[in-house]
Amino acid sequence: MVKKHALILGAGFAGLELAAQLSESLRDEVRVTLLDQSDSFSFGFSKLDVMLGRRAAEDLRLYYGDIALEGVEFRQERVTSIDPDQRRVTTDAASYDADVLAIALGADYDFAATPGFQEGGYEYYSIAGAERLRDALPDFDSGTILIGILGHPFKCPPAPFEGALLLHDHFLERGIREAVEIRVIGPMAAPVPVTKELSQAFLDALGERGIEYVPKQLVTSIEDGQARLAGGESVPYDHFIGIPAHRVPEVVESSGLAVDGWVPVNRANLATRFPGVYAMGDVAGLPMAKAGVFAEAAARVAAEDIAAGLRGGEPPPPYEGAGNCYIEFGDGLVGKVEANFLGGPAPTAELVGPSRELAAEKEEFGSIRRARWFGSAP
Ligand SMILES: Cc1cc2nc3c(=O)[nH]c(=O)nc-3n(C[C@H](O)[C@H](O)[C@H](O)COP(=O)(O)OP(=O)(O)OC[C@H]3O[C@@H](n4cnc5c(N)ncnc54)[C@H](O)[C@@H]3O)c2cc1C
Repeated sequence: MVKKHALILGAGFAGLELAAQLSESLRDEVRVTLLDQSDSFSFGFSKLDVMLGRRAAEDLRLYYGDIALEGVEFRQERVTSIDPDQRRVTTDAASYDADVLAIALGADYDFAATPGFQEGGYEYYSIAGAERLRDALPDFDSGTILIGILGHPFKCPPAPFEGALLLHDHFLERGIREAVEIRVIGPMAAPVPVTKELSQAFLDALGERGIEYVPKQLVTSIEDGQARLAGGESVPYDHFIGIPAHRVPEVVESSGLAVDGWVPVNRANLATRFPGVYAMGDVAGLPMAKAGVFAEAAARVAAEDIAAGLRGGEPPPPYEGAGNCYIEFGDGLVGKVEANFLGGPAPTAELVGPSRELAAEKEEFGSIRRARWFGSAP
């Protein structure tokens, strides 16, 4: 039997999980090519370790060369064009035709959307940014640190607040917490606004540590210690840390796949409007948070839908946009948000913990995926 060709663009949470699923359930019927421009994957939350100097970036990289999934071939190439009608993809090295095409290219950062940010601000949403901030932190010894959320949606809604909580700890340890003011400013009416209760839990955690959240304010540019807001006013800062505005990668934009910024999909099975083309993870436009746990859950549903399409079986139960996200609260404590965005009439999200047991559970979350995707010892 001639195997069908599944081409997966992007080897992040979604692409890796889709490759693992197809390798497990369809290896006799499907050969998989997995493309990524990078040589390695690292978990989003690793960036917090890098920012705080707890781990070196190099120790956190998982190399794609170690992928040992039967029937999956990884190639390090940059995707330069996607023709969704023909399911034809061109990279900097080759071109590919696919029977099934999965777009899992994630979200890119749009630094230029906020004038002054790249020159005058810091960030921890990229490894390079986290390293730069780590190197600058020793000079942050007094004044106001303004953490600005520079667009919506953005990856991992709790991460700006997680950063603030961890910086609080960092300054406590240095004995200079009193000399530093930490404020988070963003366009949302409340932190993590998926439910009132969850936002309140974050407001309480921030309040207990003397961290202010300034709601409904979008920083549009920064210059000379002043963050300019959409309404025209300015907020002063001594050190600015931004959560960059997000966008689909350029190649997705130019393929015509994106509508209103993101790739529209059937929320039940992650299919795009192009036959045989799926999109999942951060690149997809769904009314829910962008996070790795949701990306991998989407990949599982897409894999089942691909199997049903090939074998003529029943379609899988609809994607629920459900998953558990771990959040560091500082002092070795980790909380867990259990969320379900699409499974019911309204999204649900509940904070469990924080506790030390959940810190161990978060470690396990990482090692299970390292073993599953990269064959590393758990
Ligand atoms: C600080 C921080 C903390 C986080 N904490 C958590 C957490 O605790 N839990 C959680 O679930 N999520 C967390 N996240 C979010 C999580 O990392 C992302 O939501 C997740 O990685 C999305 O998965 P994805 O597969 O859609 O995209 P990605 O993992 O971003 O993968 C996309 C891949 O596409 C590749 N790519 C892009 N363009 C091209 C191209 N043109 N050619 C070839 N390859 C290309 C990229 O190299 C990348 O490997 C965090 C994120 C950050 C920044």
